[in-house]
Amino acid sequence: MTEILHNHLGGRWVAGSGAGTALFDPVLGNELVRVDATGLGLHAGFAFAREQGGAALRAMSYRERAAMLAAVVKVLQSRRDDYYAIATANSGTVKNDSAVDIDGGIYTLSTYAKLGDSLGDRKYLLDGEPARLAAGADKQPVFQSQHVLVPSRGLALFINAFNFPSWGLWEKAAPALLSGVPVVIKPATATAWLTQRMVKDVVDAGVLPAGALSVVCGSSAGLMDALQPFDVVSFTGSAETAAVIRSHPTVTQRSVRVNIEADSVNSALLLPGEAPGSEAFELLAKEVAREMTQKSGQKCTAIRRVFVPEALYAQAAEAISARLAKTTVGNPRNESVRMGALVSRAQLTAVREGLAHLQAQAEVLHDGAKHALVDADAAIACCVGPTLLGTRNAAGSDASDRVHDTEVFGPVATLLPYRDRAHALQLIERGQGSLVASLYGSDAQALADAAIELAPLHGRVHVISPEAAAHHTGHGNVMPQSLHGGPGRAGGGEELGGLRALNFYHRRAAIQAGNTTLAALA
Ligand code: NAP
Repeated sequence: MTEILHNHLGGRWVAGSGAGTALFDPVLGNELVRVDATGLGLHAGFAFAREQGGAALRAMSYRERAAMLAAVVKVLQSRRDDYYAIATANSGTVKNDSAVDIDGGIYTLSTYAKLGDSLGDRKYLLDGEPARLAAGADKQPVFQSQHVLVPSRGLALFINAFNFPSWGLWEKAAPALLSGVPVVIKPATATAWLTQRMVKDVVDAGVLPAGALSVVCGSSAGLMDALQPFDVVSFTGSAETAAVIRSHPTVTQRSVRVNIEADSVNSALLLPGEAPGSEAFELLAKEVAREMTQKSGQKCTAIRRVFVPEALYAQAAEAISARLAKTTVGNPRNESVRMGALVSRAQLTAVREGLAHLQAQAEVLHDGAKHALVDADAAIACCVGPTLLGTRNAAGSDASDRVHDTEVFGPVATLLPYRDRAHALQLIERGQGSLVASLYGSDAQALADAAIELAPLHGRVHVISPEAAAHHTGHGNVMPQSLHGGPGRAGGGEELGGLRALNFYHRRAAIQAGNTTLAALA
């Protein structure tokens, strides 16, 4: 049997008492390690995090905690090779795709280390200016209300998805730890190894106070039950599990604060008036192909629906397909391979089923099944080629409901022709709220107008015009400076967005007092 990874809870490394669940190499099929959370004392472990970890973190200033994040960055940077090896084995990703997760996580941490330093030596934050409640004879305020943001007294439980075992941890842990809130991470089982190793390296390096960072690998059973009123839970994953979290008594009865990042059917829109072969047209084709194939399409932000003017449907299909055809698929250890595997057999089955579901309402424009696998056995490897689907005319875009409802979590997107701008925006809205939409065009006013119209439906609108062609950060790349999350179907959550992320880990309170007390507060 392979090694069983230990959990870190209550300030110590502890094994589960069960046989464990195996994690596999999705390309070679062999078992790698096991995880198990059976019989852990969750209530005592959570109490330790709150009492020891929370108190130690809150005793530090923002600047001190920022320095602590910088120390975490150093530890992780010194072990990058190990993380790449784990990602290749357990996620089946090529080096560039592992970088999105590993270096993306480290970059996010270092961004929060810098942001935190700018908050200085304070231990709480003022929220806005004092507001007058009562005035003296001279009409000057004598009694006022000052809002403050103070670190939450509980812990932050993160329940994460399988596709970002590194970034998914650090994009949440950075603002939580900076806020002074201890973290318990429960990674998705399929890829828990990388998360566990990173936590182990950071804990063993002694750069965090005891109880500040814990990891529970394996079953999620009992985690939600162990939460207390001042704890927060941040969930990333499917809409189905999100519904279970939202309806848990700890949320409905104890008001545990919840953030949900769920699935999403993100869009790319080529605005009207762009000729085939124009720069905007080519930028769309390039970005769609990149988004479909990066991490084998296993990104919550990946482009799923591609909207083009009706007259450009055939040319767009051809331009995107030509790029997809160049994608070599297979074993990430082979230098010629550009796209590795899906994460598991379960995901391979889910992607095949999702494709069949969409194909009932769409034609195949580029067939992923035609990609021969490089250095991989098709009977074992969880690899699929990229598939572009489409509906031939704008009436078809209206008729197909599945494409607006179904997130196939793999290298799959659907091309949808639209009649005019209003029609395009109406079709995008049928996604019922997404994480991100990207716009392609050369008319600045038209791009700005469309961005504002799409903003209420998205957490982020990414505009790719010729002026930004060489500099833009990518439709699907989540930058710590920008908000991540989306309304409606996307879960209604908000993460990142620079220092805005700290709000979730602070409580806001109004202090009503006379001027000298308020001056002492400031
Ligand atoms: P999932 O099946 O919902 O699992 C997510 C996490 O929830 C895992 O850690 C899972 O643990 C845990 N879990 C399962 N049942 C639970 C329960 N009853 N109570 C508490 N936790 C439970 O999602 P996934 O398949 O890992 O991830 C893929 C989905 O995540 C996609 O739909 C994708 O769009 C979405 N996603 C969204 C974002 C975003 O930021 N919006 C980012 C990445 C992914 P186990 O693994 O042990 O079952």
